[in-house]
Amino acid sequence: MSGCAVFLDIDGTLLDLAETPDAVVVPPHLRGLLHRLSSQLQGALALISGRSLADIDRLFGSGIAAAAEHGAVLRDAGGRIIEDMAENADLRALLAPLRAAVAAHPRTLLEAKRFGLVLHWRAAPSAAHALITCATALAASHPALELQPAHEALEIRVRGPGKAGALDRFMREPAFAGRLPLFIGDDTTDEPAIARANARGGQGLHVGRDFAGSPAAVLQWLEHALAQGESGAQGERGDQGESGHG
Ligand SMILES: [Mg+2]
Repeated sequence: MSGCAVFLDIDGTLLDLAETPDAVVVPPHLRGLLHRLSSQLQGALALISGRSLADIDRLFGSGIAAAAEHGAVLRDAGGRIIEDMAENADLRALLAPLRAAVAAHPRTLLEAKRFGLVLHWRAAPSAAHALITCATALAASHPALELQPAHEALEIRVRGPGKAGALDRFMREPAFAGRLPLFIGDDTTDEPAIARANARGGQGLHVGRDFAGSPAAVLQWLEHALAQGESGAQGERGDQGESGHG
């Protein structure tokens, strides 16, 4: 993996899906794993998620490059904002009607981000039809907005670069350039980035197809790659040591 640039989706890829976005559990070793992998790759690791940047940092700490809100905001590992899309007033106007819609359906949730408003109904599946109908009708009159289906959720978001665009943008950054992209994701929003990683000569992996649907299997695979990289680096240091003696 030493010549790779690694791009990872979060929910359903690194973390098991939970009833609400706030209820996810970050395995205790995951933060350390990502930070060590990032430093082994000399910073060529980025999280690419639909979550907000604040949310990503809350889960994993700062110091890891991230594309938030499906690529609307990109930040490097040093904390510098690389891209920040313009906000859209049409989206703000939908906040009130969507709040009213979730208020009418107990145990549903509205997640308000800068570039997207997400309706969640995992805890109330019977509300799905009504919420989808409402969101579809609201989004229809705003060409700058689009609907983004997710696992038992629907997002109305400002049209933007998407995850494949985020991958391309990171690949122009010095920490990533010249490497082969490896992307892992689990959802329909991840398919373009999976295809893009493959098209760039790298590897696009899907949690369902390549890891039996298990984020734990993804973490195991990443741990294995990290250990291989560490033993490779030790081997190199050992060789240098020997040649120094000789
Ligand atoms: Mg996902």
